[in-house]
Amino acid sequence: MNSQSAAEAATANESGFGLSYGYGTDRGLRRELNEDSFIASDPVFAVADGMGGHEAGEIASGLCVRTLGSFPQLAAGVRTASAAELQECLLAADARIRSATGARAGTTLSGVVVVEQMGLPYWLVMNIGDSRTYRLSQGEFAQVSVDHSEVQEMVDAGSITAEEATVHPRRHVVTRALGTGDETEADFWLLPIQEGDRILVCSDGLTGELNDDHIFRILSTVGHPQDAVDALIQAALRAGGRDNVTVVVVDAKNVLNDAGVATTAPRPGAEVEDEDTLPRHELPAGDSTDDGGTSEASGAPDGNEDNGNGKE
Ligand code: MN
Repeated sequence: MNSQSAAEAATANESGFGLSYGYGTDRGLRRELNEDSFIASDPVFAVADGMGGHEAGEIASGLCVRTLGSFPQLAAGVRTASAAELQECLLAADARIRSATGARAGTTLSGVVVVEQMGLPYWLVMNIGDSRTYRLSQGEFAQVSVDHSEVQEMVDAGSITAEEATVHPRRHVVTRALGTGDETEADFWLLPIQEGDRILVCSDGLTGELNDDHIFRILSTVGHPQDAVDALIQAALRAGGRDNVTVVVVDAKNVLNDAGVATTAPRPGAEVEDEDTLPRHELPAGDSTDDGGTSEASGAPDGNEDNGNGKE
């Protein structure tokens, strides 16, 4: 019931909706450099996996997250970014990487931007390449992003199974990236944030070592997001640590959903209290802390294909 960390307090806004998060990266046990970069700064949580070698990959992924972090619609912590604006930002990152590395280096990018529309919060998920964004929502764990990779294309064509993809010799070949190649357009998904949602963003150094069941077991049993990040990275290292591994975990709490809006509008005793922001657990109907009653409003727990893959 109490706010438990500075991060939570810092990210709660007027509506009482709050985020808590953790992050970490590890070079792994085989690579000499860590070419992954990440940003975890409300409202943007993203991982970039650079490629190119000789530090070029590190430059590419670093330029990518710095471009995101300095983007005006994100830098001020406001939650109004649109997919079109983000795509514009990613094109700027693409151009900066190309000029800095002569298009010899590239980077993936996956993650979420928290946006609010009509007072309701959403995960705006973005992806280019084979880093991944997953969501654990109402007990359901699902990959939201769809990899831009050769093996994903083979899976889509039915020529190999998803399990075969994880050991396929060409599993590291991405078909879209920023900074290199012809395909630089990201995919976007807009998902209503549900109470208790947990987002995982990671580089392929995690998913290359742990299958989804293993990831789900850790995510669903470790409480604090930073502890979940640490446990996932340690598990990836124990499994071999063959690549750089980067993990960001974001939890959403006190989500003001459709039902919450309906409940708070005619709030009894508003005159005496309306200068204070009410903690969610003091709302009369008590419908925000349990998972009951809100599932019908969710609409899209795992229907990725229905959610407008590849907006413009
Ligand atoms: Mn990687």
